[in-house]
Amino acid sequence: MEKVNVPQLFGSLVFNDRVMRARLSADVYASLRKTIDENVRLDEKLAEAVAKEMKEWALENGATHFTHWFQPLTGVTAEKHDSFIEPAGDGSVIMEFSGKELIKGEPDASSFPSGGLRATFEARGYTAWDPTSYAFIKDHTLCIPTAFCSYSGEALDKKTPLLRSMQAINREALRVLKLFGNDDVKQVATSVGPEQEYFLIDEKLYNQRTDLVYTGRTLFGCKPPKGQEMDDHYFGVIKPRVSEYMEDLNKELWKLGILAKTEHNEVAPAQHELAPIYSSTNIATDNNQLTMEIMQKVAKRHGMVCLLHEKPFAGVNGSGKHNNWSIATDTGVNLLSPGETPYENAQFLLFLCAVIQAVDDYQDLLRLSVATAGNDHRLGANEAPPAIISVFLGEELTGILNAIRDDKPYAGIEKVTMKLGVHALPRFSRDTTDRNRTSPFAFTGNKFEFRSLGSSNSIACANIMLNAAVAESLRQYADELEAAGKDRFQEALHNLIKRVITDHQRILFDGNGYGEEWIKEATEVRGLSNLKTTADAMPKLLDPKNMDMLIRNKVFNQAEIQSRCEIMLENYVKTVNIEGLTMVDMVRKDYLPAIEEYLYTLARAVDSMKAVSEKVKCRYEISTIEKLTDLTDNILTSVEALEQALEELKGMEDIFESSAAVRDKLIPSMEKLRGYVDAAEMLTSAKYWPYPSYGKLLFSVK
Ligand code: ADP
Ligand code: MG
Repeated sequence: MEKVNVPQLFGSLVFNDRVMRARLSADVYASLRKTIDENVRLDEKLAEAVAKEMKEWALENGATHFTHWFQPLTGVTAEKHDSFIEPAGDGSVIMEFSGKELIKGEPDASSFPSGGLRATFEARGYTAWDPTSYAFIKDHTLCIPTAFCSYSGEALDKKTPLLRSMQAINREALRVLKLFGNDDVKQVATSVGPEQEYFLIDEKLYNQRTDLVYTGRTLFGCKPPKGQEMDDHYFGVIKPRVSEYMEDLNKELWKLGILAKTEHNEVAPAQHELAPIYSSTNIATDNNQLTMEIMQKVAKRHGMVCLLHEKPFAGVNGSGKHNNWSIATDTGVNLLSPGETPYENAQFLLFLCAVIQAVDDYQDLLRLSVATAGNDHRLGANEAPPAIISVFLGEELTGILNAIRDDKPYAGIEKVTMKLGVHALPRFSRDTTDRNRTSPFAFTGNKFEFRSLGSSNSIACANIMLNAAVAESLRQYADELEAAGKDRFQEALHNLIKRVITDHQRILFDGNGYGEEWIKEATEVRGLSNLKTTADAMPKLLDPKNMDMLIRNKVFNQAEIQSRCEIMLENYVKTVNIEGLTMVDMVRKDYLPAIEEYLYTLARAVDSMKAVSEKVKCRYEISTIEKLTDLTDNILTSVEALEQALEELKGMEDIFESSAAVRDKLIPSMEKLRGYVDAAEMLTSAKYWPYPSYGKLLFSVK
């Protein structure tokens, strides 16, 4: 194995702080740092100086092009490459890159989804440099992370609202921290470590599966004799081919300054996970998008395909993304970590309350932030957290909160009534907080883990909602505590914390989130929402309560919210529509003809055998013919019903109507069809079956 110098490799393709400090003049560096750290506007002269050095550095590292790299609402990243060349007038070229080109770009944006925004406001959109995320080189191209807006300032991407949500939480958290006397804190930022799950399958087999190629998931396939029931894959020995892939992947990610750290096999066969070390939410979001892209690219090099779909295979676990989230100050204090002193503990408890309240008040926003057609297959399917959002705190912390709520002693610490600002809290070890894997939103010692995200989701949406909702709790607390004044601060704080714990009790749940009883209790007794599909969840974005909060915290304006709702629902409808069409295609062109061919072979066999002897029974042939012809009848009827559902969808203009039709008609008719085809697979000779089986796909990589 070739030896890698990781520290040297790490970030070698990133225009990071080290490079900036080394290459920029002291004053340019200082102003740029100020822009990055304190959100101070960047002036053009400065941009010119930065652009010049960026270009030199990029050329030295083999770049020929540059691009404004952004995250439109399609969910993937977009880039349009321009070369650095500029005619020199004598037939030759020079390599140029101006401050203007660094700061602003004007991609032809008309084909990106805008949910009517661009029509309403302005025809064009522009991209604007986000200096808080470092530029990097990919495929000989200098990529400049940018935000994407319409000319009238509406966000057309995921980065802009994410940055706004980070500003909101910064603004409100600073107010709260000031009340605790933390005057030295200048900035508060959220951090995220997203754990990414994925499948690796052989490329040759992938190419034979029309459904994987068109939709990223298998639409048919009966269960193989062996799935994940032996629990032998999770944390198992990594196969050589996968291990070579992971090595290669790590190197590529490290070059891009991505802190790839942990890798292991997951529960399902062919399923794996990659976790980076956490970073600022904005950078974590950019890095996760890049990670997903590089994972797929590197897989190709190894003759494999990396599947990021939430549910590539029925019957085995799907893939998610755990969003580990915390809030920290620029002075290095994690606000979700219990402190050393009773005083810090009161502060910790208040931030804890802010999260609890946020999750309760805005359950639906968190749910819809992870809603996609793909993720609907996971949530509530006994493998991923349910569609019901609840918070897990663990025994210790729950005990403490209950003691505060009831003015009772907490046995775990001292046999006295818990008093804020007086009693210390224990340090919560991961062991006591991380046992429940079925909770969608779990406290894990010094951070929360939001586990409902889908593996292919951008983490931006979940973090926008999470940041915004927590900012809203903090805003309310700051208002209340500021009004109480310095003298009554302790008392007001105690009352506030007590009240929040009491009022939001219903969201706290430490039990088994996968159980039927929980669904009953959550919905019938506690009144928590259970939004099972994207069609149910997404319209909640337009609830006045949710719109008000997002607008009040300056995360979205009204038009942006409306357009996003529309785009997400459109995406849902289109995704399932393509799946439906793919099923029709596979059934009509491949499955039915294949079954028919096999039937014909059987029928001919019966004829020939009977010609030999009248006594032969041909029990296998005849019973198979009977069963399979029954199935082909049913397959035909269901494919016709599916075609009908697809046809009806075409005529619908209203997105709420069509998404409901997808949920109520299209998806059920797809499921029905699949059932018959999968049953036929079990009865048909493998020689005739037109697609590689689940067994082959799942155990293809050795
Ligand atoms: P597990 O699989 O047990 O949940 P991992 O170690 O795979 O744990 O992942 C934990 C993730 O949480 C890592 O990405 C890690 O960097 C991240 N993390 C740790 N501390 C924090 C924090 N304070 N804020 C945000 N993320 C964190
Ligand atoms: Mg985890």
